[in-house]
Amino acid sequence: MTYSTSGLILRARPYGESDRLFTVFTREQGKTTFLARGVRKAKSKLSRKLAFFAELDFFLAKGRRWDIVAGVETGSNYSGILEGFGRMSAGFYFLELVDRFLGEHVADPRVYEWILFGLGEIGSWEKNEKKNHHPMFIPIMTLRLLAYLGYYPHLEDCARCHGRLDLSALFMSYLDGGVLCRDCQQRGGEGIKISGDDILFLESIKSELWQDSIEESKNKRRPSLLELVPSFLRFRLEQEMKTQKFI
Ligand SMILES: [Zn+2]
Repeated sequence: MTYSTSGLILRARPYGESDRLFTVFTREQGKTTFLARGVRKAKSKLSRKLAFFAELDFFLAKGRRWDIVAGVETGSNYSGILEGFGRMSAGFYFLELVDRFLGEHVADPRVYEWILFGLGEIGSWEKNEKKNHHPMFIPIMTLRLLAYLGYYPHLEDCARCHGRLDLSALFMSYLDGGVLCRDCQQRGGEGIKISGDDILFLESIKSELWQDSIEESKNKRRPSLLELVPSFLRFRLEQEMKTQKFI
């Protein structure tokens, strides 16, 4: 039995003598693994088409353990990402996020649209990356993914005692999964100091209008959030993202 599906390659690894296994994020099946036979041989035509940063149409044959790639057509191509270190690092960071956070065979169209949007934006960054680099883009995108997956930091009241928050003294604790009041922070809660304005910003990313926050923050760095996001990821994943140090 054969079928087709579209998806993005997240990761590839050698298998057997000349095959490769591809972890692919598909629109219909979520994250899954496909086997491509013979693609490590020099003459393989399929190999060239199995590229990162393109939405690929896969033609597949049902296999016992993994479905087998019979053919590939390239759809939307984000290959501009591969032309600069900053863009490439950001692109691989997004792929790793999806790979680490999503379980197998759980379709999530919102996350699928999220990554297409993210790759499209990175691909449009100017070649002069220093000039065009948007400092908050990656943290915003990461937070948005956490929102889709139900891991968003708790903002409504103190994550520990559920008391009201004093906007002049706020601490974000990744251990508690959200904001702490001053008392809880002083009673041994770890936290990164953040401002009331940062909280409003975090609320806007959580809302339906999250894409507006990208444009609004184009020229404004938020050091607390730049520190906070990797801490949240480290805590959730219980280890560092491999691509974190490159972005
Ligand atoms: Zn508290």
